Amino acid sequence: MITGFDTTVFPRLDFRNPEEFWKTVQEIKKFFKDHEAEMSVVKEKAHQFRQAYAIMDPFIQKYTAEVCPYCGNVCCCNKHGFPEFADVVAIIAMGGKVPEYDLSVDEGALCQFIGEKGCVLPRIERPYRCTWYFCEPLLLQIEIGPPKQYREFVQDVQYMGHARAELMEAFYHLWQKYKGT
Ligand code: SF4
Ligand code: SF4
Repeated sequence: MITGFDTTVFPRLDFRNPEEFWKTVQEIKKFFKDHEAEMSVVKEKAHQFRQAYAIMDPFIQKYTAEVCPYCGNVCCCNKHGFPEFADVVAIIAMGGKVPEYDLSVDEGALCQFIGEKGCVLPRIERPYRCTWYFCEPLLLQIEIGPPKQYREFVQDVQYMGHARAELMEAFYHLWQKYKGT
């Protein structure tokens, strides 16, 4: 059973090197296009991952709306909004659009995708870390909530991680076959 997937097997997507960054994004897009006929398992796993996001989203929205307005150390900075290779794979596999990142921004400044009501990107177009990361105050708020809800939250997070791992496993199988890395 897959419990995690080491995404460091993929090439590094370095936002500090714009030319290489966009070249790699284009390479991933082209790979999906060129191997469309063999993407059925990837698409099936992507559908499950998207469902896992759909389950998590309202829950996260509820708690971030309660906790984040009082935060003195907002976690959404530009470097956290930039994707790794696996994030781009997931975005494309789920049918999302790779955002037009401005790579010239200050990596430590407030994320370019922060709007008045939080992140303006659909959840499937955000880096994975933007969904799995729970700061201490958020976790505390969830923990002091109803126990049943907390148990479901733990299960949903595990399901989401599992779904992503399966997606990456399926994609890597093809990537390795054609790219040999
Ligand atoms: S998730 Fe946590 S660290 Fe990030 S803005 Fe909300 S309260 Fe602050
Ligand atoms: S949740 Fe959105 S605004 Fe926050 S770091 Fe991620 S992409 Fe940026």
